[in-house]
Amino acid sequence: MKTLKEAVAEAAEKMVAIGHFNVSDSEGFNAVVESAKELGVPVIIGVSEKERSFLGVAEIRALVSVEQGKGLPVYLNADHTYSVEASKEAEDNKFDSVIIDGAEKPFFENVMMTKEVVNYAKGENPEILVEGELGFIGSGSMLRDEIPEGVSEETQTSAEDAAKFVEETCVDLFAPSVGNIHGLIKSGEPKLNIKRIKEIAKVVNVPLVLHGASGNTDEDIAQAIEAGIRIVHINTELRQAYKKGIKKGLSSDELAPYKFMAEGVEEMKKIVTAKLKLFNKL
Ligand SMILES: [Zn+2]
Repeated sequence: MKTLKEAVAEAAEKMVAIGHFNVSDSEGFNAVVESAKELGVPVIIGVSEKERSFLGVAEIRALVSVEQGKGLPVYLNADHTYSVEASKEAEDNKFDSVIIDGAEKPFFENVMMTKEVVNYAKGENPEILVEGELGFIGSGSMLRDEIPEGVSEETQTSAEDAAKFVEETCVDLFAPSVGNIHGLIKSGEPKLNIKRIKEIAKVVNVPLVLHGASGNTDEDIAQAIEAGIRIVHINTELRQAYKKGIKKGLSSDELAPYKFMAEGVEEMKKIVTAKLKLFNKL
């Protein structure tokens, strides 16, 4: 099986992106894995700090290990990790990648924290990828009435800052703020700044990650991938689909969880499959 680093390099060669989907439980996990398996593409399972504590760090690691043991390119990412300590826990548990999120901190503090996680990771396991983030895009995968406070065109990541951040931290992956927003804005998402993605891709020598892609149009996402995005994160749309499916399942007289929960899996699979086709140009 390829390492995540190799899978991302292959995506860059093909000018496609790997899908990153967050899960909170084993049903969500199955929905993502089955969809990727059916299409024969690599996939990243994302778990935020809260998703990790609901699911269990060792438990999700074990689920992914079972798939990797079958030779399937399923990878595990510790999504949005806000402390060095929690990052180390993910690294100790042999996650394939970890995101240290200092996007709300001043530049220098973000650099120092990210550097510490990079240094620790490389000492533990040279295969683990560390992602750094610069430019706040709101936090939480939820439905929103408006763009979250502290996010504007002015707070988008400049190419200059991106280059400086990547050079100083030695991260393997970089997540900029380029018009993307965590969560889903009810009245519609602003457009992605494709020009800015191109500018950043030109000056940093690591793959770029697009967070908060729920709600962005297919056309915008396809253009972002052309511009240099190699991993795309989807969470809010999955949560919506899962809830919709479970509601449907619960409205019947069915008592068996594996039957009423299965409706949630099916709804999630529809979203994951459509996104994977888009990201992988299938
Ligand atoms: Zn994110």
